Amino acid sequence: MRVREIDYDLSGRRPAGLLAAGDALCTFIPIYGQGMAVAAMSAVVLRETLSDPRRIPTTRRVQKALLAASRQAGDISARSDRPMPGAVGSAPASGPADRVAGWYLRRVLERYPGDPVVGTAFRSVLGLCAPVTSLFVPSVDRAVLLRPPMPTPAEPPTSPEEPGA
Ligand SMILES: Cc1cc2nc3c(=O)[nH]c(=O)nc-3n(C[C@H](O)[C@H](O)[C@H](O)COP(=O)(O)OP(=O)(O)OC[C@H]3O[C@@H](n4cnc5c(N)ncnc54)[C@H](O)[C@@H]3O)c2cc1C
Repeated sequence: MRVREIDYDLSGRRPAGLLAAGDALCTFIPIYGQGMAVAAMSAVVLRETLSDPRRIPTTRRVQKALLAASRQAGDISARSDRPMPGAVGSAPASGPADRVAGWYLRRVLERYPGDPVVGTAFRSVLGLCAPVTSLFVPSVDRAVLLRPPMPTPAEPPTSPEEPGA
């Protein structure tokens, strides 16, 4: 992910009423295939925040909501890009919690092609259909922590309900 040099969500940086969304706010490396989904999610957030009768849609409030819509995709791609040579900014920084999360995610990556439980959860997160926390529910934890990686099936599943069939 590349965050634009202007921090649009911080106050006093740009004229009132100017909103950045989609690639103008946050640009992703295309290999992750998330930019279109984030642009669409930003459009939905924009509609909801502008039409919410309970809150005045100030520029900053709407901009923060737009940034939140990019957050999950940004976190995924920044984390994945961390080990790349030349990574700059806050992305390469890592503490003990990041190292544990990195260890767990490496085990997820080893298992998702062959394990239907891990695979379903991983694809849902990568496709921005589920929060990252769904990789840490007990059924996925068990597969990631206790089961060895399964071989990748040679054929595609016959149906979504029978991933191993
Ligand atoms: C090579 C490549 C492959 C990609 N593959 C994928 C993928 O597989 N899956 C995926 O999800 N995402 C992919 N993306 C990312 C995705 O295309 C973008 O994240 C998404 O299009 C962003 O939408 P947007 O509306 O923010 O910007 P854009 O789609 O870029 O739309 C901006 C529009 O504004 C117009 N414009 C610019 N300046 C002006 C101006 N001054 N006045 C009027 N109009 C203006 C432009 O002509 C354009 O039509 C890929 C990107 C690239 C470059």
